[in-house]
Amino acid sequence: MSLLSTELTGGKESRSGNTVSWTPSSWKSKPIKQSPSYDDQAAVDKSLAKLNHLPPLVPFAEIDRLKDNLRKVAQGDAFLLQGGDCAELFDYCSQDAIESKMKLLLQMSLILIWGSHKPIVRIARMAGQYAKPRSSPMEMVDGKEIPSFRGDILNGFKTDERTLDPERLVDAYFHSAATLNFVRGSISSGFADLHRPLDWGLGHVRDPELQKRYSDTVESISDNLDFLRATGHDTGSRELSTVDLFTSHEALLLDYEQSLTRVSKSHLDQQGTSSASAEKLYYDTSAHFIWVGDRTRQVDHAHIEFLRGVQNPIGVKVGPTTSSSDLLTILRTLNPKVEVGKITLITRYGAAKVGSLLPDHIKIVENSEYAKSVVWQCDPMHGNTRSTSSGIKTRQFADILSELEQSFVIHKEQGSYLGGVHLEMTGDAVTECTGGSQGLLDDDLSLNYTSFCDPRLNEKQSVELAFLIAGHLKQ
Ligand code: PEP
Ligand code: MN
Repeated sequence: MSLLSTELTGGKESRSGNTVSWTPSSWKSKPIKQSPSYDDQAAVDKSLAKLNHLPPLVPFAEIDRLKDNLRKVAQGDAFLLQGGDCAELFDYCSQDAIESKMKLLLQMSLILIWGSHKPIVRIARMAGQYAKPRSSPMEMVDGKEIPSFRGDILNGFKTDERTLDPERLVDAYFHSAATLNFVRGSISSGFADLHRPLDWGLGHVRDPELQKRYSDTVESISDNLDFLRATGHDTGSRELSTVDLFTSHEALLLDYEQSLTRVSKSHLDQQGTSSASAEKLYYDTSAHFIWVGDRTRQVDHAHIEFLRGVQNPIGVKVGPTTSSSDLLTILRTLNPKVEVGKITLITRYGAAKVGSLLPDHIKIVENSEYAKSVVWQCDPMHGNTRSTSSGIKTRQFADILSELEQSFVIHKEQGSYLGGVHLEMTGDAVTECTGGSQGLLDDDLSLNYTSFCDPRLNEKQSVELAFLIAGHLKQ
């Protein structure tokens, strides 16, 4: 125990040769963006001490298992589906909200298995996606300037809850834990049993040709499942009766991430004393997969410093402002041992820019020592945000699809493998993105716009996108 607490609170950097050694708090000596300034540091310290004491949210072995899976994605033998809310609220920690997200991820992954004939790795943006980077710390609401909403882990969306509240750090942990508990319980009791009839709900598709294509696909998936059942091939098959569902969030709030970082005991000998020969391995147990956002990935800043020391697979958002040389420096900093699948490059340029920017990023990586070792994932959401004439933040389905399709073509031309997608989506019938086969228009957005941050694909738009991706994977 004393070992753990010294590991986690000691912040002194030491230099060995010209490499600065890493500790869970070495990020504190670096410049940092998007960092909160609390009024009451004693209350923050109290929350962090509590978090330090609580058990890991996810076990080391599951983090390692995800890493194994991502190695297969990097090698072209699996496909990664990652999705969920832009900003997860504590309020989403309820049975219906969690079930509808799980159902959507499962349904989409079934479509992708059918399209790709490859295993699908599923990562939810869930059970911890509570901190949001903001372009401005303040915003105007009803003519008054108030602090921006920064995610439930920091403050509340209600205008009278915008002061940063240190108790929310611990609340975040318990909402993550409750979400994870329900996900685990549901999966182990058969929620993900693909033998159960799936309600595909394709009635919304207006175009008869598209409707036919989708129902043919569903029929073909159902026939295959029936065939397996009839021939007895699925008896007791774990593949069809249960799945892995991993969790992820942006590692934005480093105090929180640090306090859930634990050292693997594998370097201790039988008596529990530290053995000099074994390497200490640190895991950020707040989630299986964590990523660094577009606003905080500066090579010499705090977020990259923190992430370089943990065993977790790490995502890096890559956008129009990422220089090719920074990209290589980030890879060399985060993954000096060139572990295959350790880093997922989450590209998000926008439909208008992907054609001119992605090829050079692929070339610089694939012509370096990182060739065939990263997971290339397309986030077709964050480069395609626009405002309607009445000021509503939205995204067009056609732009999302276009960035995805261009990315598939570019990777094929470059000889690299587009191994995954990263989506903001929800199982609910929201009206936040326009287009899709429902034909949502700008004027429809106010019908059911419930996101507290970026606009998400609704259930129908998400399933439709999965069909379109499956079509690409089949080629
Ligand atoms: C996000 O994923 O919600 C996000 C803020 O993305 P980015 O850092 O790419 O802008
Ligand atoms: Mn977002």
